[in-house]
Amino acid sequence: MAEVLRNAQFILGAARTNQFPIDSGWEVAVAGRSNAGKSSALNVITGLRGLARISKTPGRTREINFFQLDQERRLVDLPGYGYARVPIPVRQAWQRLVEDYFRQRQCLRGVVVVMDCRHPLTEFDQQMLRWCAHARLPVHLLLTKADKLSRGAATAVLHKVRGELAHSYKESIGATAQLFSALKRTGVAEAQEKLAKWMEIEEKKGPGI
Ligand code: GDP
Repeated sequence: MAEVLRNAQFILGAARTNQFPIDSGWEVAVAGRSNAGKSSALNVITGLRGLARISKTPGRTREINFFQLDQERRLVDLPGYGYARVPIPVRQAWQRLVEDYFRQRQCLRGVVVVMDCRHPLTEFDQQMLRWCAHARLPVHLLLTKADKLSRGAATAVLHKVRGELAHSYKESIGATAQLFSALKRTGVAEAQEKLAKWMEIEEKKGPGI
């Protein structure tokens, strides 16, 4: 099932909406605060060590990076947010680009939001969730670096986050959350299953959709 995820290949980085690839098929976007662990999570989920390094090359960090899985499916790495030292105009440009992406993109099926489980649901994360709710996009939270907490503490964070999601988003979108560790490779199958479901990777049974 995860096989198609291993095919991920960089297509392009877009700094403007007119640079996006054709809006067809299925797309899942991955977002997160800088340093939350998004690149590590992407690498482990796809099994491709160098994948997210592409998004970290100078000049690409402010772009939306598109990775092709097959003819119809793409993973999309959104630029990391929440850098305190980023100048306001740069932050505003980022915000416009991501908002336009969420608003325009018909093929977008869901957004994975990566958070450090020790600092979940920061103000930036909340803003991201509000945009997703506004665009009626389902969200899956990866609470990563779970290896940094005891099992009990990590589980408590998960329950708290799930409670907050249920409270804030029960009317709008299906928002789910899980624990994850790129270091220990925990939660990888669960994350892969979410992507596969959103991108209908297993849809091989019977005619039609
Ligand atoms: P990004 O800026 O969100 O792409 O974050 P990175 O993937 O580059 O990770 C930021 C830092 O956190 C790096 O030093 C990683 O080694 C570390 N990191 C990422 N994921 C994990 C994890 O699951 N466990 C631990 N202990 N460290 C992690």
